[in-house]
Amino acid sequence: MNACLLRSGHDTDQSPAQVLATPVQFLKGVGSENAQRLARLDIVTARDVLFLFPRDYQDLSDLRTIADLEEGLLLSVRGTVEDVDVQQGRGRPRLGVLIQQGGEYLRATWFNQLYLYEKFSPGQHVLFSGKARFHGGRWEMTHPRVAWLEDEHDQPSTSILPVYPLTEGIPQYRLRKIVRGAVEQYTGILSEVFSPELLSEHGLMPLARALPEIHGPTDQPSLEQARRRFIFQELYILQLAIALRRWKLDQNRHASPLEATTKIDARIRRLFPFELTADQQQAIREVADDMGRTCPMNRLLHGEVGSGKTVIAVYAMLLCVAHGRQAVLMTPTEVLARQHAQTLGDYLRAGRVRTALLTGSLTQRERSDTLSAIAAGEIDLVIGTQAIVQDDVKFARLGLAVIDEQHKFGVLQRAQLRKSGVDPHYLVMTATPIPRTVGMTLFGDLDVSTIRQSPPGRQPVNTYLVEPDRYRKWWDFVCKKLNEGRQAYVIAPLVDENENLAVASVESLFEELSNGQLEAFRLGLLHGRMSAQEKQDTMQAFRSGQTQVLVATSIVEVGIDVANATVMTILSAQRFGLAQLHQLRGRVSRGKHAGYCGLVAEESTEQAQERLEAMVETTDGFRLAEVDFQQRGPGDLMGTQQHGLPPLRIANLQRDQAILEEARTAAQKLLAIDPGLADPDHVRLRQMALIRYGRALDLGDVG
Ligand code: ADP
Ligand code: MG
Repeated sequence: MNACLLRSGHDTDQSPAQVLATPVQFLKGVGSENAQRLARLDIVTARDVLFLFPRDYQDLSDLRTIADLEEGLLLSVRGTVEDVDVQQGRGRPRLGVLIQQGGEYLRATWFNQLYLYEKFSPGQHVLFSGKARFHGGRWEMTHPRVAWLEDEHDQPSTSILPVYPLTEGIPQYRLRKIVRGAVEQYTGILSEVFSPELLSEHGLMPLARALPEIHGPTDQPSLEQARRRFIFQELYILQLAIALRRWKLDQNRHASPLEATTKIDARIRRLFPFELTADQQQAIREVADDMGRTCPMNRLLHGEVGSGKTVIAVYAMLLCVAHGRQAVLMTPTEVLARQHAQTLGDYLRAGRVRTALLTGSLTQRERSDTLSAIAAGEIDLVIGTQAIVQDDVKFARLGLAVIDEQHKFGVLQRAQLRKSGVDPHYLVMTATPIPRTVGMTLFGDLDVSTIRQSPPGRQPVNTYLVEPDRYRKWWDFVCKKLNEGRQAYVIAPLVDENENLAVASVESLFEELSNGQLEAFRLGLLHGRMSAQEKQDTMQAFRSGQTQVLVATSIVEVGIDVANATVMTILSAQRFGLAQLHQLRGRVSRGKHAGYCGLVAEESTEQAQERLEAMVETTDGFRLAEVDFQQRGPGDLMGTQQHGLPPLRIANLQRDQAILEEARTAAQKLLAIDPGLADPDHVRLRQMALIRYGRALDLGDVG
């Protein structure tokens, strides 16, 4: 962590904090030129050097002489560069480096890595680590890892070498030396972050031992301990930061309590044409409890595709309206906004609730009329696409905002909605299962309700991987289902991000199917470039059964609910991500008929193959989310960067789940005693949280 405050009493007249703020330029072995290079790694002060965690380690514990090498083992050998040569072998440039030690020779070879050429010169001392092979009377290593040693006396000080992120102009060995120097010089003035109780309770290595250990491990077990300590620390501080944000919001915000009285509750429930599932009941209870409080609801409703989340939204909105307040429902697409408007229209046919649809397809005139009606309080319920609703809509008395299908909703985005004077209650709904670790971090300031079970009578979806030789058979099957009276989706290949190409692709698919496999049926076409009116007409025709097949881009991914549509064909399925495939498939498991999903794939990468197989194997969104998360890695979609948080330095949300759980529990325990971290014993932790996450989480005025 960067933000260590320090014990005073260092033997200079500077405070420890000042000492650690020493510009890196003045550190042993750095100088102004290197300081500039280090700045590119965001290393500016002595403290930054101390907390530059290695990105990897080179385990060189088995150091051999060339004479003692053995085949097939990971070994290290040191030697002096004798010769460097480059050969062009069958289009693959090959770099060879010959080293010598005690009269024995070893040749290292690299293919396609000519940039290494400049790094070697005769006379240099190097350490190669890798698997050696005895070939043609000489030892060889292919693509060994290299450590450049300063001279023949430069013993790698430990058997496990840290590998730091590099910047141009600073070789690994120099960086190691700089860090080693800083650790020797400054570790003594760092004071422990954690209380002795916390250290012992969680078995954490103290800072004064962990820091030298992480930069110069003595052995694997100690290194693990040191890493664990810093991972714990990073995740603990992150949890504190998120909790502080929550605390701050709760402190400063007041919502109108909208209580679900027995009468209101009964009046709303009467509208639903079906029995609510137990999970829906539970979610409604949680939402109603929240909304009855003076502190705004901040809840994520998280439920499998087709599990019936809309009902919860409707309940919350009507509860809000029953108290004379306005509610807004935001969706990512216009098609979905219209669908919701229709659903609500059906529920509310007999009532007096005044509803308005706010989408991009309104005329100027309609739009301004609607806006003034909302501002005048003449509309109770607004449904629209997010961009439009957020724009310039003034509500007379907004009580609730519901955001549907918000997959990428992070901590920061939510802040944008909270700008008006009164604080509405918030309900965010998503069908994208969130891996637990991500939920605990990025969504750590939200309460979560989960719908696990689907409404009764749902049939499973059968998923098939359609191999090229089964292609005809698959279409025969689609035709059979259509003849039985069902409807079908055909999803066009995903074509980059380019809308024009996507349109071309879906249009030609439409032509092909209309004149080929599906010629006997009535087809509709849907893509993002159509006008709102066209989209609406197309959806209406499909919903009513007028068209039997909807040929579409992945625009139908979110929310679309047509129960009679039970067959989905996804072309070039290998191009879609797992979350998207899962969402798409969710379209055909919404009624009483069994669903069928055919994944047509061309040649695909190993990862794509894994995705498709996961789809065939399971319909469990949580399971798929984990596979997705494993594939994508933490920096991607679900990762922190996308959500505006600074990247994690040492923790990894995939790998460190257990530590995260532990850190979270510990953080919660602390916050239960001292929610604002105001106690002098906790001020330091609060400051660490603020320094690292204050800006990202908008914690400016905490403390
Ligand atoms: P999602 O969670 O994907 O938003 P929806 O709210 O669109 O799901 O619901 C999917 C379908 O299930 C809708 O047609 C809805 O009317 C129906 N549905 C929701 N709850 C129930 C229930 N308790 N019993 C029967 N059908 C339900
Ligand atoms: Mg939905």
